[in-house]
Amino acid sequence: MYWEKETETMPGNRLEELQLARLKKSVEKASASVFYGGLFKKTNLDSNGIKSLEDIKKIPLTTKDDLREHWPYGFLAVSRDELVRMHSSSGTTGRATVIFHTIDDIKEWTNIVARSMYMTGMRKSDVFQNMMTYGLFTGGLGFHYGAEKLGALVIPAGAGNSKRQIQLMQDFGTTAIHIIPSYALHLLSVFEEMGVDPRSDTQLQIAFLGAEPHSEKTREKIEEFYGIKAYNSYGLSEMDGPGVAFECRRQNGMHIWEDNFIVEIINPDTLEPVPDGEEGELVLTTLLRDGMPILRYRTKDLTRIIPGPCECGRTHVRIERIKGRTDDMLILKGVNIFPIQIEKKLMDVPGVGTNFLIILERKGFNDHMTVRVEVQKEFFSGDLKQLENLRRRIVEELKGDILITPKVELVEPGSLPKSEGKAVRVIDNREE
Ligand code: ADP
Ligand code: ZN
Repeated sequence: MYWEKETETMPGNRLEELQLARLKKSVEKASASVFYGGLFKKTNLDSNGIKSLEDIKKIPLTTKDDLREHWPYGFLAVSRDELVRMHSSSGTTGRATVIFHTIDDIKEWTNIVARSMYMTGMRKSDVFQNMMTYGLFTGGLGFHYGAEKLGALVIPAGAGNSKRQIQLMQDFGTTAIHIIPSYALHLLSVFEEMGVDPRSDTQLQIAFLGAEPHSEKTREKIEEFYGIKAYNSYGLSEMDGPGVAFECRRQNGMHIWEDNFIVEIINPDTLEPVPDGEEGELVLTTLLRDGMPILRYRTKDLTRIIPGPCECGRTHVRIERIKGRTDDMLILKGVNIFPIQIEKKLMDVPGVGTNFLIILERKGFNDHMTVRVEVQKEFFSGDLKQLENLRRRIVEELKGDILITPKVELVEPGSLPKSEGKAVRVIDNREE
């Protein structure tokens, strides 16, 4: 049931002792880098100043901009000879950051990915098809090596080429896939086109959904249409990549591996810790990284800690599914909206398809939101009244949740742009 029982079920106090010892080491290691060396000098800090886990607050927060400003080697804590691998972020919000790993870093990362997959029930008898981009993006190689370590047969399919993906699944009896949720929804139309039913014509059992925010509704949809269990997988390149936080079979929040990371949740405005259980920005510290330790990293991802123990017996803290990044928030007529709120509402309306796009425009002094939604093709043949009813229903649903009235346009399936990577949900045409 456990990949590493002792570590996964370690009582809280022992886990904290382990974290403290590792934090001290991490601070010591980090001080060898240009960035932290300078920072510690300025703030008069060294590992002797870390006497309890609380002392982590003495360390200033690290941001994505710090990584960008000290690009590429300013965070290196070892000589370049020690490095064996480089990865980078996807660059969703600007210049991509780069992360360097030693052989031990890769070993630890691989282990938490294997541990995460094992937690969901994947075993060495499984055939694992990795449908993420290979290369600099961490979702490819990160999962690849984790699955190999677990002993599964890995099909390194990479992203895209949808028909071939389905063919591979059928030819080699794929049982587990790693896939971006928006792509999993898109792939359903390709299944349909090929006349293949994922429920009866494949042996799929497990999907790992990661790389972008998605709602519980989307997960349910994917589970239903594919006839599988889908587990939320969270990670970011700055903290290795996938394997940082992962759902167990209870599917009630994602466990963050606290033997590898220290978890904090802060208020993104005041930078103060939020009370336990309240929403805020996730801040993470690496505990086992040699090449490029990163301390108190502001992930920009919004979530909250789920208080209390998990029925699975693992003691590592759980976080709720990510609501979005702080910079995903749209401000429209003074109202704050996250794209995932819209996704959640749409996925709940029968007849809605698998893709949508939010378009923002400014007319005079007014901001306008248009939500373009793919709906099932039946709505476009026959009685157009039904289409109009559906449109009205969507407007009402959205209005009830986001408190402004968006313009809703319904379009045929497949007509919105489709990305092989993270979905682009918002086009903001408002000039600065
Ligand atoms: P970038 O930050 O440029 O997109 P990464 O490829 O490192 O580069 O992506 C990490 C980010 O992707 C996370 O910080 C988070 O915003 C998002 N992400 C990853 N997995 C999930 C998930 N399961 N749910 C929601 N968001 C996720
Ligand atoms: Zn659990």
